[in-house]
Amino acid sequence: MAGSSTLFLWDETAAEPDLNLPMTADVVTDIAVVGGGYTGLSTALHAAGKGLDVCVLEAKQIGFGGSGRNVGLVNAGLWLPPQDVRAHFGEERGAKLVQVLGDGPDYVMSLIEQHQIRCELTRTGTIHAAHSTSGFKDLSRRAEEWLRLGAPVRLLSKQQACEKIGSSAFYGGLLDARAGTINPMGYVRGLARAAKAAGARIHTGVSVVRLLRQADGWLLETDCGTVHAKSVVLATNAYTDDLWPGLRSSFVPINFFQVATVPLGARVAGILPDRQGIWDTGKIMLSLRRDAADRLIIGSMGSAIGGARGLSERWAARQLKRLFPQLGPVEFEKSWHGQIAMTSDHIPRIHRLAEGLYTPIGYNGRGIAPGTVFGKAMADLLTGGDEADLPLPVTGVKQELMRGLKAGFYQAAFAANQVVKSI
Ligand SMILES: Cc1cc2nc3c(=O)[nH]c(=O)nc-3n(C[C@H](O)[C@H](O)[C@H](O)COP(=O)(O)OP(=O)(O)OC[C@H]3O[C@@H](n4cnc5c(N)ncnc54)[C@H](O)[C@@H]3O)c2cc1C
Repeated sequence: MAGSSTLFLWDETAAEPDLNLPMTADVVTDIAVVGGGYTGLSTALHAAGKGLDVCVLEAKQIGFGGSGRNVGLVNAGLWLPPQDVRAHFGEERGAKLVQVLGDGPDYVMSLIEQHQIRCELTRTGTIHAAHSTSGFKDLSRRAEEWLRLGAPVRLLSKQQACEKIGSSAFYGGLLDARAGTINPMGYVRGLARAAKAAGARIHTGVSVVRLLRQADGWLLETDCGTVHAKSVVLATNAYTDDLWPGLRSSFVPINFFQVATVPLGARVAGILPDRQGIWDTGKIMLSLRRDAADRLIIGSMGSAIGGARGLSERWAARQLKRLFPQLGPVEFEKSWHGQIAMTSDHIPRIHRLAEGLYTPIGYNGRGIAPGTVFGKAMADLLTGGDEADLPLPVTGVKQELMRGLKAGFYQAAFAANQVVKSI
């Protein structure tokens, strides 16, 4: 079957329906949210729940950005191990962030339960798999600290990882029982449905093209009319355009691609038998999971290149053969990629861009729980909360040095990796 780099699998397999909600009149609201992903819709859901008038403006469709295209690993914490987060922010602030993001998957799962979101949730954890002995050392350090903090993680030996993954290619793993997997588009559409039911207005196919400060708030000019709001949350993340000058230069955009097989039925019974999703410790990270229909979905950093029998599908076939020699040849259904906002220190940011204008950004490829949690934090702030209670200290925008060069370098390196590993 033909692969495609324009349509992503979750768009077709999500049980929650897409909401097509055009904007037909000018709007006056308390909070305008730009971007219909986890961050924007969580902001809207929680602010509407507190009685505020909220309006979400999404340029394309709900989940068009990272929220509809990701791997669906609902992970705890950040990229960095807890001790490194504390070293970065200081003991007290760092510990608070570790705690709130450690509890993040649980919060996501509670929203899924509360709003009956149909997103194929599994609650059996995720596995960070060691691609080498040095990767296993890194996982041991992470495990030691999480265990000290009382988190339900388990360091897996090579043999134990082999049983959990169904592959002898890894050197061990770190199983985190707090985590799980979702159909990412199902979750983001479910958040939109819940936010709408709570009273938020949501408009899709509306690009915000200008933000103008006014005496009593902000005027947002869009291609469908104007929105006047007391406060604005820019929830555009890696899909940030030139709406706020300089914001796009505050992170390095990196692509991550995935290739999905057709449903494989009993052939994959021994692969990830408990349905944990995995990602590995390699510098050019690899991800792997099974979906509810028993497709295998394998991914890595870079763009989806070529259609049917294109480079990415050759890469995927090669990797599946390496990991699961017993599987035999498989047919692929879909390939796609999405954009990740990377920061040089792997730490996300919450910027105050101007009075009443905030943006949580730079999730470094870990945005399901953080986006949900930071969206709630935005709603708390804008309903009378204090900046000091945000999970991150509020900062101004800093340009990422040599952003264009770095992005170009990574893109070339990831493409070369696909070529080498598809032979
Ligand atoms: C391929 C891939 C795999 C990933 N895997 C994982 C994973 O397994 N686990 C995990 O936790 N995280 C993962 N992530 C990261 C996660 O998906 C993102 O961090 C998260 O979705 C960001 O959510 P968001 O709401 O902040 O932004 P997004 O979901 O990116 O939404 C931003 C939205 O803003 C809209 N927009 C932009 N400009 C405008 C404008 N001017 N006017 C109106 N709308 C605008 C865009 O159309 C877009 O829909 C992955 C990301 C990618 C790309």
